[in-house]
Amino acid sequence: MGAATMRGRRARGPIRSRGAAGRSQPRPDVHAANFGASATPVLRDSTVVSKIPSELGRRAEGWVAPSSLDGVGGVTGDEAASPGTDAARPVVSESQAMEIALAEAALAPAHGDVPVGAVVLDAEGRVLARRHNERELAGDPTAHAELLALRDAAAGFVGWRLLGTRVVSTLEPCPMCAGALVAARVARVVYAASDPKAGACGSLMNLCSDPRLNHSVEVVSGVMGEEASAQLRAFFAERRSR
Ligand code: ZN
Repeated sequence: MGAATMRGRRARGPIRSRGAAGRSQPRPDVHAANFGASATPVLRDSTVVSKIPSELGRRAEGWVAPSSLDGVGGVTGDEAASPGTDAARPVVSESQAMEIALAEAALAPAHGDVPVGAVVLDAEGRVLARRHNERELAGDPTAHAELLALRDAAAGFVGWRLLGTRVVSTLEPCPMCAGALVAARVARVVYAASDPKAGACGSLMNLCSDPRLNHSVEVVSGVMGEEASAQLRAFFAERRSR
């Protein structure tokens, strides 16, 4: 199967047949404390938490592996793939991508998962992947929406560097997912609701702009933050009412 075909298949969204049957009821989640009845500090406006300088950004996008890393995983710096284009898929804005991410998130409660959704856009703004949180469904502590979407997007690339891509998430990425954004060389992350208990893109720390790391990810927060927070609050309110 060619890369373009793979991208097309993946871009249509999650096709999962596994049901939640047999899974134990979801356990209380640390996020519940963040999105309970009390007000949650969420940025109302789109606010740039950190932005890499344009020159650094260009260098980051054109980043190639140092010669010492060439050959690791069978991929050399010269072989790092670019996202390419696919005219069959429409270009979407980041706000439209966030609406897709919110729609993905809305699928998670059906299997007892906290509603978090994520979309990966290529450099032109075409959807490469869209996933939602499947931690309870999969019984997998790493099955966060952002990580699953990155894996799907990477499956349509040659190599692991998702150069020029953007990740749009309904919740501020945690340390694991923020680390994955850096590792994947993602150019920019846009998130809706801040997570004061686990957020690693500006709340507790900012792994996306740590000068000790070899890649920076531009961070934009608060895009449709009210909608995402309301979705999370409704989920936890419903669960408490059972
Ligand atoms: Zn995460």
